[in-house]
Amino acid sequence: ANTILEINNLKTYFYTDKGVVPAVDDVSLKVKKGQIVGIVGESGCGKSMTSLSIMQLIAPPGKIAGGEIHFDQRNLVGISKQEMRSIRGNEISMIFQEPMTSLNPVYTVGKQVAETLLLHNEKMSKAEAKQKVIEMFAMVGIPEPEKRYNVFPHQLSGGLRQRVMIAMALICRSKLLIADEPTTALDVTIEAQILKLMKNLQAEIDTSIIMITHNLGIVAEMCDYVYVMYAGKIMEQADVFELFDNPKHPYTEGLLKSIPRRDVQQNKSKGLYSIEGMVPNMLQLPRGCRFHPRCEYAVDACREGEPELVDLGNDHLVRCIKYNK
Ligand code: SF4
Ligand code: MG
Repeated sequence: ANTILEINNLKTYFYTDKGVVPAVDDVSLKVKKGQIVGIVGESGCGKSMTSLSIMQLIAPPGKIAGGEIHFDQRNLVGISKQEMRSIRGNEISMIFQEPMTSLNPVYTVGKQVAETLLLHNEKMSKAEAKQKVIEMFAMVGIPEPEKRYNVFPHQLSGGLRQRVMIAMALICRSKLLIADEPTTALDVTIEAQILKLMKNLQAEIDTSIIMITHNLGIVAEMCDYVYVMYAGKIMEQADVFELFDNPKHPYTEGLLKSIPRRDVQQNKSKGLYSIEGMVPNMLQLPRGCRFHPRCEYAVDACREGEPELVDLGNDHLVRCIKYNK
């Protein structure tokens, strides 16, 4: 009962003309009540597809090909469309990257957010809803919130639209908030403000948050527990302190080395460390460990079987043959 979300062996596959893309390939993860869980990895690693699977928003040719997603005692895989619609926005809310896709162009932004609020609070008056929306607009850093209440989405800049979306997701106070690169498009001051707001919300109402990001700085600041994804698979998972202090997977090590450090003068000519090579073609995954073409520790055995997730104890798991017992 302490767990709000439990994903077991999720497989989200895309059946394309060229073959099957295993975007999410046998992923299991858990989110406890009040926990902030990070999913990190480069773009295309399957982290967004994992969140869209939770929301049951995978469109053809994609499909959930296997596994379970237990949310608050229900399995969301195979749930009716109607039931899922009531869970979405109400019990689970999501902040996407592209705000334009999620706002209705024909209504003012204030009205849209107020509608969402009223939908979830039958006893609230319209005036009260409006007041709350204006307060939330101010909290997410929208200047002149009373004035902005009455404008249409196209009258706002991309950054302001994103803040409206964030306001909409936060105002519902849902049990689970999924934030997919929520602040990537925003400047650092607003980013810090919004991350703080999310953290306060978590503390205040015990919301659980899944934070999907490629930014390990955000993970360090926000998350309690972290999953590292690569080419559709979880490569490592651990408590945030453990992961940063004691990374085990060569991919995690690479990600950590590529974080810009404020305390170290960067060598301009060398630039930041980055992991050599490219994310693999998901239609033709490398045999064995899918990270082997980029791994500096790769040996022959890495090209054979797919490594299992090895439990190192202390809630720390890693998928690399170096740790096979
Ligand atoms: Fe590198 Fe081999 Fe470990 Fe894969 S299994 S991460 S290739 S050492
Ligand atoms: Mg993404």
